[in-house]
Amino acid sequence: MVEQRVPFIAGNWKMQQDHLQAIALVQKLAWTLKDADHDFEAVEVSVFPPFTDLRSVQTIVDADKYSIRYGSQDISEHDAGAFTGEISGAFLAKLGASYAIVGHSERREHHGETDATIGRKAAAAVRHGVVPVICVGETAEDLEQHGASAVPVQQLRDILAEVPAGDFVVAYEPVWAIGSGKAATPEQAQQVAEALRKTIAEVRDDEAAESTRILYGGSVKSANIAGFMREPDIDGALVGGASLDANEFAGIVRYRSHVGV
Ligand code: PEP
Repeated sequence: MVEQRVPFIAGNWKMQQDHLQAIALVQKLAWTLKDADHDFEAVEVSVFPPFTDLRSVQTIVDADKYSIRYGSQDISEHDAGAFTGEISGAFLAKLGASYAIVGHSERREHHGETDATIGRKAAAAVRHGVVPVICVGETAEDLEQHGASAVPVQQLRDILAEVPAGDFVVAYEPVWAIGSGKAATPEQAQQVAEALRKTIAEVRDDEAAESTRILYGGSVKSANIAGFMREPDIDGALVGGASLDANEFAGIVRYRSHVGV
């Protein structure tokens, strides 16, 4: 990765951990990283717990002055009103959420989210000062039919068309690699990350392309993170399963201490 972009390791807990478990997991992660003298300015760390945990996570982070950031796994495209079950970016901002994941493949698959909806959600996050983590990625069929980068590039183009301005993070997550134990190779992830960065330059400008962080996600573990972080266009990881184990997640965050990096 390029040094001007601060590496970013993000943990997506999905629908796991109630608010009491969330407190315990955040505490264990904070202690593990403190014991290892982790420098949060050098590698940023964020967790994405379920909505019901966010207030508890905020309380422990504030009370114990942890440098761990947190965000939500989704956000409403609306700001307020008669939208039963939705969570506004205004509420997330009030809770101190730094980020909101938008367009995770599980929401595309189970909730029918389209790139237009995802774009409006990203725009809502930006409106409220919450940075969207925009997920894109191809299915196994897409990969076979179109190669690795065509679908994620088009998804990003369509999403950014709805987002007039503001910072964002991109997470390239090949759907076939999520939760499968079969990660992309660093070379393949780099190829797509490079294409996504070029897309940002086209849609926005060179400055945005240079400063935007692009994460890889899909079966990342402490044993394979270093390979991804050696690639010039990969600036971090969005981690699912492995983020639920504080020691394993801390091992991913501390990829710089791995042999050969
Ligand atoms: C994810 O859910 O975003 C993800 C990448 O999951 P996993 O790390 O378990 O593949």
